[in-house]
Amino acid sequence: MTADPNAEPAAPVDARPLVVLTDVNKHFGELHVLRDINLTVHSGEVVVVIGPSGSGKSTLCRTVNRLEPIDNGTITIDGQPLPEEGRGLARLRSDVGMVFQSFNLFSHKTVLENVTLGPVKVRKVNKSEAHETAIRLLERVGIADQADKYPAQLSGGQQQRVAIARALAMNPKVIMFDEPTSALDPEMVQEVLDVMTSLAREGMTMIVVTHEMGFARRAADRVVFMADGRIVEENTPDEFFTNPASERARDFLSKIL
Ligand code: ADP
Ligand code: MG
Repeated sequence: MTADPNAEPAAPVDARPLVVLTDVNKHFGELHVLRDINLTVHSGEVVVVIGPSGSGKSTLCRTVNRLEPIDNGTITIDGQPLPEEGRGLARLRSDVGMVFQSFNLFSHKTVLENVTLGPVKVRKVNKSEAHETAIRLLERVGIADQADKYPAQLSGGQQQRVAIARALAMNPKVIMFDEPTSALDPEMVQEVLDVMTSLAREGMTMIVVTHEMGFARRAADRVVFMADGRIVEENTPDEFFTNPASERARDFLSKIL
């Protein structure tokens, strides 16, 4: 896969709602961390979520695959409500890929094993097929030559690309990225963003929490701005960056741009 980070997003946006949050609320004790969240992400869409630290972005990501329960409201994935537990939950989780700031690779497993484990254990794919897919995906993220190494032998940028390959191996309907480049040394940020930009262009449905405004401008179909647990503003990247509607967003942008 060759990344052209300057190209416009080409993924067609069809009308199928893939992730739908309706009136979602969540508290941590007294703290009302998600307030009346309504958000629809369509198949093939790339939604970038930005906002100040503590505004609820990570919690939002975690509720979508039930790493965090919600107090009320509904979340559906491809029309299916989130099950409470059991086999339905495992299946739903495998439909929703997650890529975290801290990579979260299995340190005692090789790169290749990290990518084959989920498909074999959860998707019940046979080992040779999982192996073939893993090699193809490692090629796609540009690290097939590292397949037999352990995570600690890789740079942060390489580890994060393994984490992306691992998410892709589950053949998810949507991938959530929670600040995927925030823990990286600056010189490694771009290699990860390039992989994400390519995925976006290939039509992967993505929800991306990031402070990388260049990526947001280039790859997002829509920017969602959160503050204090609310979605304050939702707009095209062009509109959002040139003409933010809310005072809160203007203030945030003036601090980071
Ligand atoms: P963001 O990702 O936008 O920085 P988070 O979703 O991580 O924000 O956090 C939103 C708020 O919820 C913050 O005030 C944070 O301290 C609080 N919070 C997050 N996780 C927990 C938790 N497990 N228990 C209690 N409070 C939490
Ligand atoms: Mg966060």
